[in-house]
Amino acid sequence: MIKINENYLKLQDSYLFSTIAKKVADFTLKNPDKEIIKLGIGDVTLPIIPESIKAMHEAADELKTSQGFKGYGPEQGYEFLREKIAKYDYEKRGIKLDIDEIFVSDGSKCDCGNIGDIFAINNKVAITDPVYPVYLDTNVMAGRTNNFNKTTNQFDGIVYIPVSDKNEFIPELPKEKVDIIYLCFPNNPTGTVLNKQELKKWVDYAKQNKAIILFDSAYERYITEENIPHSIYEIEGAKEVAIEFRSFSKTAGFTGVRCAYTVVPKELFGYTESGDKISINKLWNRRQCTKFNGVSYVTQKAAEAIYSEQGQKEIEENIKYYMENAKTIREGLKQAGFTVYGGINAPYIWLKCPNGLTSWEFFDKLLYEKGIVGTPGVGFGPSGEGFFRLTAFGTRENTIKAIEKIKNN
Ligand code: PLP
Repeated sequence: MIKINENYLKLQDSYLFSTIAKKVADFTLKNPDKEIIKLGIGDVTLPIIPESIKAMHEAADELKTSQGFKGYGPEQGYEFLREKIAKYDYEKRGIKLDIDEIFVSDGSKCDCGNIGDIFAINNKVAITDPVYPVYLDTNVMAGRTNNFNKTTNQFDGIVYIPVSDKNEFIPELPKEKVDIIYLCFPNNPTGTVLNKQELKKWVDYAKQNKAIILFDSAYERYITEENIPHSIYEIEGAKEVAIEFRSFSKTAGFTGVRCAYTVVPKELFGYTESGDKISINKLWNRRQCTKFNGVSYVTQKAAEAIYSEQGQKEIEENIKYYMENAKTIREGLKQAGFTVYGGINAPYIWLKCPNGLTSWEFFDKLLYEKGIVGTPGVGFGPSGEGFFRLTAFGTRENTIKAIEKIKNN
């Protein structure tokens, strides 16, 4: 008899986006003539930059010839791309990485989930709350949690670190000892950041407790302020305690093209039950070589193209476009009397629902009164209750229109 992984039964239905879709469908049915503006999605809207498109065409043409044909590539990614990553994403910020510390993949979502393969089930996991749901659900699937507790709306066995206006969105170090810590800055969903001093506290904690930080910096390109670390490795000693995930999805509009990378420094070690020190880099390499066959040549060429002078200019223009949207949302909401967070170093704006409304009550109000769709904060965790997320990834026209509608009561 085939037995299933019963941990999957502990998962809560990912009802957030399906409930949103149902509510929007219901609204459209009842109001077929009313326009709906979607500022809830985390997907980009601008096309892929010309430099990357050109590189993809050229790469495809290479494959036509027997000299240019590529079969299986290196599981870790082609050196031409890993060299560019090391040079432009790290060396430029004073961080020295070897090529074999960089692992190219088809997405940060997979990497954030797959990384759990190399860690024991009995590690204690800490996540911030609200959180990008992948960190939590993949640990539920792996069996690192107990059941979902309907009283607390949390999984027993996981350490939730609340981030809200009460602590200025700065997570406090856990009171109990944890082994695996997920941090995402600039943060999805709150759009807030940690400065170097705050991030250093986490690196120090991890060192003292022999813990590991899984640092997701998918949105680092959106940072506009000084003293905000783009990489956790800007903090001294972080290579001994942190893995970093980066994605081309939001940097270069690759949500559909699929390319990302994970940095696993050689200074990073984990331990066996008997206390032997084991290289995490070697474990991850082994995992990737066994379960992954690399990202397509054409895709990696497209990713490489963003590092050319022209490529950099083009992606910066796109990011500027989204950040102007972020400013429009942030300033517009403030003028309309809302309390808002984020949107300065991230494409997400996290607003406090007015008049004590819950996240879902505000969702309904915005949909029914203004035809605007956002994401209820509570969908990202219990500490998101009473908050709401809008994204800057919409078109300029829709963003302006949505904010005008919100301002005109
Ligand atoms: N990490 C965070 C924090 C994200 O918000 C997202 C996408 O929304 C991802 C990772 C996923 O990135 P990818 O498209 O590379 O899988």
